[in-house]
Amino acid sequence: MTTFLGVPLRRHAHAPESPLRGTESFPQAARRELANPQLRANLAHATATIRAKRAAVVGELADWEALRDSGSAIKADVMARLPELLEQFEAAFTARGGTVHWAADADEANRIVTELVRATGADEVIKIKSMATQEIGLNEYLEEQGIAAVETDLAELIVQLGHDKPSHILVPAIHRNRTEIRDIFVSEMTGVVEGLTDDPRELAMAARTHLRRKFLSARVAVSGANFGIADTGTLCVVESEGNGRMCLTLPDTLITVMGIEKLLPTFADLEVFLQLLPRSSTGERMNPYTSLWSGVTPGDGPQDLHVVLLDNGRTNALADEVGRAALHCIRCSACLNVCPVYERTGGHAYGSVYPGPIGAVLTPQLTGMQGHDDPNASLPYASSLCGACYDACPVKINIPELLVELRARSVDDERGGMPGGWDAAMKAASWVMSDPKRFAAAEKGLQLGRIVAGRDRKISTLPPPLSGWTQSRDLPAPPAQTFRAWWRETHPEEQA
Ligand code: SF4
Repeated sequence: MTTFLGVPLRRHAHAPESPLRGTESFPQAARRELANPQLRANLAHATATIRAKRAAVVGELADWEALRDSGSAIKADVMARLPELLEQFEAAFTARGGTVHWAADADEANRIVTELVRATGADEVIKIKSMATQEIGLNEYLEEQGIAAVETDLAELIVQLGHDKPSHILVPAIHRNRTEIRDIFVSEMTGVVEGLTDDPRELAMAARTHLRRKFLSARVAVSGANFGIADTGTLCVVESEGNGRMCLTLPDTLITVMGIEKLLPTFADLEVFLQLLPRSSTGERMNPYTSLWSGVTPGDGPQDLHVVLLDNGRTNALADEVGRAALHCIRCSACLNVCPVYERTGGHAYGSVYPGPIGAVLTPQLTGMQGHDDPNASLPYASSLCGACYDACPVKINIPELLVELRARSVDDERGGMPGGWDAAMKAASWVMSDPKRFAAAEKGLQLGRIVAGRDRKISTLPPPLSGWTQSRDLPAPPAQTFRAWWRETHPEEQA
């Protein structure tokens, strides 16, 4: 049987679909995804490969832990001084010829970008893979306004052509294998060579031919940013394919959408993050393409530069002294690659553009948890709390601690009203455990479980409300001897 997390069963309303909120709870979505063996095989292969690469390159650095401490300290400093650093960034970016726009939410950011594109007269933009633009649903919004957004990152292009959704922060098409990608190219890409195979080189060449036409004709590009440097007004994008470099240099107009938490105080701070990020994300010693831009240079590169500074719930997260640590995230995806829950369900089960352990803490904070019908209220339970994400995180975000805190808040929010099956089970357990005689009687009753369990020593079905447990996992048979009986036997001198 399937084994995964302990989410209390909840009823879920069908919330309108949004990039940060799915239409069903994590357990419902996870159950569906788990039934797809191809998906599980694709994920297991991909995450195991990235994990091994990461472990090898991290192991080369004697000062890895010191780097993680530095990254964590810099991010804590940024969160403590964010308003001041944002103003510093705005002044420096403006002084070098760029224009800064402030967007309180997704709607405002989408409107700003659309107006900027319209002002150029273009009806197509090329895009660099960006979590911020996914978070606001920019591609869909632009399409409604008659503007085509063409993804240029290979994995993002596969997702776009396949009319699919990304399922990983860094490898959006991680759930697809080579054969599936070939089929998507053949059916959706114009001008694909006859007899295209699923050889990675052939697939890359097909994508390159497709994209090169777009690069050479595009007048506007839209990017995200991995980092914004407050003291110099610099923006930074790191990527592996060179498509980003093309987008950042060829078009006349460049529009960047950046979450306000992406700032670093000084240019020197990049030294720490450009070591932490590639090792944690792709298992590379250094990033293949690191692009930095600080303003307009006449006759060289984009002549019209914009950055949209996106809040979209970040201020609320920042105001939360416990939860603000989630804003330290540099989106490396190391926590996804080590998470046993993510590895089995994939990213679509989380219903948000931010999947995996970081998504389980960041998404509910950005959107708030609106009662137990809210699918995002189930996300903090989408974890075994094994701690692997904390060990892998390059900026030492204590994700398990944040998950537990969010679980406590979700339970507190639901106090009062009619108790559900879970609450009734907890109350019954509390009544039994608060009296030694009752507890001793219950222990005797537990022995019945050995008979129910049978030869394999596993109980797979229990009646309600305990069925909430066995729907997701087996219950081991009780031991032949209870702790109290063992104690009496081994400590006769302590018997009164
Ligand atoms: S939480 Fe940490 S490990 Fe996960 S994506 Fe963010 S920085 Fe990477």
